[in-house]
Amino acid sequence: MRWSQAFIPTLKEVPSDAEIVSHQLLLRAGLIRKLAGGLYTFLPMGVRVLRKVEAIVREEMNRAGAQEVLMPALQPPEIWQASGRYETARDVLFKLKDSAQREWVLSPTAEEVITTLAAAELNSYRQMPVNFYQISVKFRDEIRPRFGLMRAKEFYMKDAYSFDATDEGAMASYRRMFDAYGRIFARCGLQAFPVEADTGVIGGNHSHEFMVPADTGENDVVYCETSGYAANIEKAASRGPEVPTPKDRTGEAPETFATPGVVTIDSLAAAPYSVPAHGQIKTLVYIVDSKPVLILLRGDDLLNEAKLMARTGATHARPATPEECVQTLGARPGSLGAVARIPQDVPVYADEQLRGARGMTTGANEDGFHLRHVEIERDIRVSHWVDLRTVRAGEADIATGQPLKIRRAIEVGHVFKLGTKYSEKLNATFLGETGQRHPCVMGCYGIGVTRTLQAIIEQCHDKDGIVWPTSVAPFEVCLTPLTVTPGSAPRELADRLYADLTAAGIEVILDDRDERPGVKFKDSELVGFPLRLNLGEKSLAKGEVELKPRGRNVEMVPIAEAAARAIAWVQAERARLNPAKA
Ligand code: ATP
Ligand code: MG
Repeated sequence: MRWSQAFIPTLKEVPSDAEIVSHQLLLRAGLIRKLAGGLYTFLPMGVRVLRKVEAIVREEMNRAGAQEVLMPALQPPEIWQASGRYETARDVLFKLKDSAQREWVLSPTAEEVITTLAAAELNSYRQMPVNFYQISVKFRDEIRPRFGLMRAKEFYMKDAYSFDATDEGAMASYRRMFDAYGRIFARCGLQAFPVEADTGVIGGNHSHEFMVPADTGENDVVYCETSGYAANIEKAASRGPEVPTPKDRTGEAPETFATPGVVTIDSLAAAPYSVPAHGQIKTLVYIVDSKPVLILLRGDDLLNEAKLMARTGATHARPATPEECVQTLGARPGSLGAVARIPQDVPVYADEQLRGARGMTTGANEDGFHLRHVEIERDIRVSHWVDLRTVRAGEADIATGQPLKIRRAIEVGHVFKLGTKYSEKLNATFLGETGQRHPCVMGCYGIGVTRTLQAIIEQCHDKDGIVWPTSVAPFEVCLTPLTVTPGSAPRELADRLYADLTAAGIEVILDDRDERPGVKFKDSELVGFPLRLNLGEKSLAKGEVELKPRGRNVEMVPIAEAAARAIAWVQAERARLNPAKA
């Protein structure tokens, strides 16, 4: 490809509406353009990268034994009603009507479609295991589309679905996908790590997210360097808070005391009351699937909503409004407490850290008053003891006791053992060896292809631009003659090298633009081609060309060796990123 013929609209200025560096570089390097919030057009260089990421995903899916299919993005709402997700996923579902006023759903994912297919086509255990995947556009009505391709309304996802006759079979399928994911991200030149993920309503512990460490990520990962433990904060557990919960028996009965104007944990912790936060019980009212629920936590702990959803099996949960608190407990937030008589039909979920707590202080369910000397198991009707708290950095790892760390990360992939949730609802059953019908045991496996593309930039860049891993670069080599006049030595050599490298199967772009060297260097660094060959009159006169790997030092090589050296460099990079193939 000749640069003069290519559409690479680079930008000098940092676009004002791009907050994170990878989003800025996608725009500045001329890879994408915004149509509207969460909607982007891929320009030629962007498409080249996208196709390369897709090709890696496709190769590794095929290698892992999955078979490619392609499902419609437009889906009938009936299958979504059958799975229950017409309701539970309503927040992200795009719906539209055709000219006959019939409603359709735009696919955010495809469990319903693939399970409908399985219900019709899979009849015997002999047809399993089988794994179907597709790489296709997905639609999600994200409330806050942001960071470019990271959280878009329309994006590309690879989604795979495995069907097995047995649980052990399903675990083996899961493992194959888990391993394939490791290879995919490594081949993309991306450092991504599996972490234990929340399994929500479905339960079990067979779910991992693949995370790319980045300050701009939207997930918190809790990890221990000693044990290798790593979990999404939505799932993470520890040995508990650093300061233990008070448990000494006092024998004293609960006592009301006046606390005018005190409505926060902090103000009760301050003078004149000086009740430490870990000696307080925090009472929250939540509306869980339209019903009020009471939640008790230590005063210094934060509720983990994902855990709440998982433990209650809920699909929707939100804090109650002050009015709803009054309806449930007769008091407003800030004075709530559970020692009072609470309606029998309101379940009380208490965090495990409060087990055995004594001498605690909590709201008296009356504005301006609190209760002290509370013994939770004596004074409060707890209906469920559960882990609801959010782990904090510094707490002890369960396995080693070493301090846990927390860091931000981008979720690029997700593997999930589904079990029979969808196969039961959509009737995907098969005849087993003994002639009995069973629901298929399923797994689902997603990779955000466009998010991965941007995560690579987030991880691989410097002050000058993108530093593409060779495996996903739009071109592998950029030939840069500093004089482009036909007949000049740099131009002639560039044409010759272009032919040699192309013949060797290398993807080359020749910067034949009549621009100053500085402009060309800046552009090629911004777009991030892995290897540049600078062909200047002066060095050619000395019999040399400059070999300039992106982000590394220049090396002078004899003209006669230039082609072979460039080819060897690219081949070495390819082998480094795909050792299985080399
Ligand atoms: P998130 O928690 O970031 O919203 P999710 O848990 O909803 O993601 P999955 O349903 O597991 O995502 O989808 C599989 C993959 O698709 C994710 O790991 C992510 O890489 C990608 N993905 C999900 N939502 C988006 C989006 N709005 N834009 C781009 N990629 C997305
Ligand atoms: Mg996920």
